[in-house]
Amino acid sequence: MKVLVINCGSSSLKYQVLDMTNEILQAKGLVERIGMEGSVITHEKIGMDKFKLVTPMENHRDAIGHVLDAIIDEDHGVVKDMSEIGAVGHRVVHAGEKYAESVVIDDSVLAALEECVDLAPLHNPPNLLGIAACRELMPDTPMVAVFDTAFHQTMPPESYIYAIPYEYYEKYGIRRYGFHGTSHKYVAERASDILNVNINDLKIITCHLGNGASVSAIKRGVCMDTSMGFTPLEGLVMGTRCGDIDPAIVTYIREKEGLAQGEANEILNKKSGVLGISGVSSDFRDLEAAAAEGNERALLAIKVFAHKVRSYIGAYIAEMNGVDAIVFTAGVGENDISMRDIICNDMGNLGIKLDLVKNKVRGKEMIISRDDSKVKIILIPTNEELMIARDTYRLCKVNI
Ligand code: ADP
Repeated sequence: MKVLVINCGSSSLKYQVLDMTNEILQAKGLVERIGMEGSVITHEKIGMDKFKLVTPMENHRDAIGHVLDAIIDEDHGVVKDMSEIGAVGHRVVHAGEKYAESVVIDDSVLAALEECVDLAPLHNPPNLLGIAACRELMPDTPMVAVFDTAFHQTMPPESYIYAIPYEYYEKYGIRRYGFHGTSHKYVAERASDILNVNINDLKIITCHLGNGASVSAIKRGVCMDTSMGFTPLEGLVMGTRCGDIDPAIVTYIREKEGLAQGEANEILNKKSGVLGISGVSSDFRDLEAAAAEGNERALLAIKVFAHKVRSYIGAYIAEMNGVDAIVFTAGVGENDISMRDIICNDMGNLGIKLDLVKNKVRGKEMIISRDDSKVKIILIPTNEELMIARDTYRLCKVNI
């Protein structure tokens, strides 16, 4: 059975087709500039050159239409007939407290997700547009929603309740939710496979370090805590997001700078993080190049980022009474050799010893701790699409 995975943003859309009988990726692509001048689809049948088509796409329905055309195309396609696509898996960012697992989409699920739009006003609406377009164009194909928040629903209340009046939790659902759940779950399960130890016998700290970044504490396969909160702004320092700050700063800056409603939010989401500290870039490659040339603020940004990751690792070791494995994943975690080195430096007393030679690796599954390190440090490239396809296949194969 083939599964189409859709990850729909406001003006872009990523997709993959996987054959789930052997979990092999068959095609993938990206639609950009939906609803703007110069809409473009870039499609790649695995093993063939990329194919690019610039064509007007007014909305998500047009975009999905072009995705389906590409999948079925005589030269670049991977199916002869759309009926070969047994199911569609959709990434949905926020399910609030409604779903702790992926779910087959029906009208009641859509109604529940509409209720979550307030919680993720930037992310859930385009996710829902993608689902609506697919349902219109493939009315007989079952669809599954896979949520970024679902994996973190197992957190105990002491991890997710904020120390603000409890009524705000009851009235507005203000609590910590956590994000990147599909990635944290995937790499935790891979870590268990790589170590050949049952996940029920493991305490794992997963570090998803990309442009957006979060850390999770996973005990017996269950999420106990994670660094992102009510929104993805909380937790680690990120490319452009501030992460944890004293909330009093927000009102203080608003008063001092005379900021209008929404401007502070923009600053904390788009102009902060390592970009805000360095004034150079949100990209760690640029920061490292600048630091190597003596840019002190770029170096400071790198140190602040690493310091925060280390603080969370320490906190989660305390929360879980130990750790067996620390996993690095996503853009920075998979590729930034020196960042992994700074994060893991001088943690020998905690049983964490990075092998500096093994660490010289990028984008490949590998144990990078020293043989005498009690805690295994593992590099695992994330694969959220495969995870979405797996859940979709699991929930739909009986129907097909
Ligand atoms: P997201 O999915 O959150 O947009 P990614 O997980 O793709 O982010 O990570 C992108 C980030 O990874 C880039 O902004 C950059 O900082 C970092 N990155 C990618 N490659 C490298 C590299 N070779 N060295 C250092 N950092 C890298």
